[in-house]
Amino acid sequence: MQITNINKYPIAFVNAAKERLHKSVADRIGVTQLINAPLVRTLLIEKWDEVVLDVDDFVDRIYGIAVDKYLRQFESDVILSQFKLELYFDKGITLVGVPDRICLDKSFIGDYKFWKVASLRFEQTDAIAQLNIYRYLCKKLHNWGIEKLYIHPMLKDWRILPNWQKKNERDYPKCRIPTFELPVWTYDQTELFIQDKLIDHLNNPYRPCTSEEKWQSETTYALKKKGKKQAVIASFAGSGGEKKFLTENDCISEAKKTKKIKKWPTNGYYVEARIGECRKCLNYCPVRSVCEFAQKLGSK
Ligand code: SF4
Repeated sequence: MQITNINKYPIAFVNAAKERLHKSVADRIGVTQLINAPLVRTLLIEKWDEVVLDVDDFVDRIYGIAVDKYLRQFESDVILSQFKLELYFDKGITLVGVPDRICLDKSFIGDYKFWKVASLRFEQTDAIAQLNIYRYLCKKLHNWGIEKLYIHPMLKDWRILPNWQKKNERDYPKCRIPTFELPVWTYDQTELFIQDKLIDHLNNPYRPCTSEEKWQSETTYALKKKGKKQAVIASFAGSGGEKKFLTENDCISEAKKTKKIKKWPTNGYYVEARIGECRKCLNYCPVRSVCEFAQKLGSK
């Protein structure tokens, strides 16, 4: 894998990114890889030398580790930090997980995350699977019966909302590092989940990624006034929910309902199509530099 430093980040970031590189191999699978699409892992294994990532792709993970390392000295509980869990699972594959924090006295696993406010709702689904698999590994390997699972998202774009906005964003996180307790699965449920995912990885290594795996957004429509940057009516996704206008008609009806316009067409107003994108393929997937689909989209 080659690492570029397009924006000339300080050298410590470059070296830290290099330190994060672990060549993907066929007989080991990380918990996050397991949850991800099989094609990502297949390309990482087969095209490792050709994959190009930028230092920027590693920044969130570097922040996470830096925070974890710094805070470790201030913990009042006994914490196993970055404790590696490796289980020879099945079919010649070892499953590997490294939770940020395991506390045996208080029986919890905790993970720090660097997320955005808007992604809180989406990212939690993967986090639930990830931490439940860590819990399962703790039980299988060490007979530790972990009872609670927590994530502590450090919200990159959290801000103090002005009073007028607080009314519309009732579910906006109250602070920049909220703690969420995640649902705990039964061990059987977790084992089934792992089995299903493993079978998918082993039997369908070249399966095209699903829309969900590509973080594909839908095409939506916004009503705009000529000469104004901000839309009069547009889809939104906030911490408290989302509203999507998937057709021009949806958008115009909402504009009439909320009395932004009286009739359609109205002089000076127009509808703009906001074309959906595969956000992961374009900007986040670690193999976007060698994935045909991503390259066709124009990913860099
Ligand atoms: S770039 Fe997109 S299609 Fe290609 S492996 Fe990644 S998520 Fe799948």
